[in-house]
Amino acid sequence: MRISNLFTKTSKNVPAGEIAKNAQLLIRAGYISKVMSGVYVYAPLGLMVLEKIKQIVREEMNSVGGQELIMSTLQKKETWDVTGRWDDKVVDMWFKSKLQDGNEVGFAWSHEEAIIEMLKEFVVSYKDLPVNVYQFQTKFRNELRSKSGIMRGREFLMKDMYSCSIDEKQHNQFYNDTIEAYNRVFERLGLKDDTYMTFASGGAFTQFSHEFQTVCEAGEDTIYLHKEKNIAINEDVMDDENLNKLGINRDELEKVKTAEVGNIFNFGTKKSEDTNFTFTNKEGNKQLVYFGSYGIGITRLMGVIVEKFSDDKGLVWPENIAPFKIYLLRIGGDQATGHTNDLYREFTEKGFEVLYDDRDIHPGQKFADSELLGIPYRVTVSDRMLENDQYELVERKNGQKSLLTREQLLAKLG
Ligand code: ATP
Ligand code: MG
Repeated sequence: MRISNLFTKTSKNVPAGEIAKNAQLLIRAGYISKVMSGVYVYAPLGLMVLEKIKQIVREEMNSVGGQELIMSTLQKKETWDVTGRWDDKVVDMWFKSKLQDGNEVGFAWSHEEAIIEMLKEFVVSYKDLPVNVYQFQTKFRNELRSKSGIMRGREFLMKDMYSCSIDEKQHNQFYNDTIEAYNRVFERLGLKDDTYMTFASGGAFTQFSHEFQTVCEAGEDTIYLHKEKNIAINEDVMDDENLNKLGINRDELEKVKTAEVGNIFNFGTKKSEDTNFTFTNKEGNKQLVYFGSYGIGITRLMGVIVEKFSDDKGLVWPENIAPFKIYLLRIGGDQATGHTNDLYREFTEKGFEVLYDDRDIHPGQKFADSELLGIPYRVTVSDRMLENDQYELVERKNGQKSLLTREQLLAKLG
């Protein structure tokens, strides 16, 4: 893509009141645009990153047999009346509205009840199980505080998966497979070493739910880590009783600031009991479905990655989720321009993802933008270097510079 075709621009300014580093940087680099607190537009560059994160998550959810679908964002009151969760006193973050005929609707903050309602049509007999479905969907939550940029949206993108199993064994197998799939997601995003599966509250069936917490100063959570035993526990559930259960001592724990990037729930048959979600077993009797729910905050993850990897010059994207792999720019006159156009064509033909800074502006400005945008490799073409058939390659993550011939350059980037 030519930068002259990109409608967004970099900027030195951020909206007043935007205090989160992730949002500040993403706004300045033109990845997102702020609508109001907790609500952001994803401009082309931001959307490219989101799509790449989604694709990684999608591949891993498919690998455990997940089937992708997309639920509606408008939900009816009746869907949630079943469990009492339509009530604002029970769920305090609903956005609601009314249809022309006066009937109430809600904007989805979760899809648990909605998924079960829909699946009831299809899951009738033991032959219909197991079923695992997932989606990438916008969730709406009227969060009290939204000061963490895209890490806490009032409108945000979540991957939510739901498993329906025939018995506890099948259910546990899927639950454990999903933990492995989550670990692969965090590994691919470069977060594995800093992400801990954490004992947390909210288990409807089991004692705990499991959160995936990534070490991050800008996170809103606090966990306690037992590094040796690789056990993490959310401060919300840290009491003597739970510590005993986990076989760990308070004084062996390290306190860490984290962001919750995922949360998985083993509902057992509790949720199905509440929603009367049953199937007919081999003997012809009704039986409750084993149910699990598995979330990943996609936009929050993007924010966490910005917070963790960026530096004083701007964003730093891991290569596999960067909007482009290469930032190509030229310094100098007609010769450099001709060469850069050629190189751009060649990169594109080879399938490299390249952003070509074809603007007639000061080189310093181009360098600064390439850093702010966080593109992993910068390739500079200049009249002077061309005399020796040389190109400059700079790696964003460590600033490492090398002078390469065209052949070496293509080999290195290939
Ligand atoms: P939190 O404790 O941070 O409010 P939650 O426990 O309410 O989150 P879940 O309902 O478990 O969140 O949602 C699944 C995932 O969605 C979370 O693990 C988190 O990564 C993400 N998420 C939740 N709320 C938000 C939000 N307001 N903005 C962005 N991502 C969110
Ligand atoms: Mg949670």
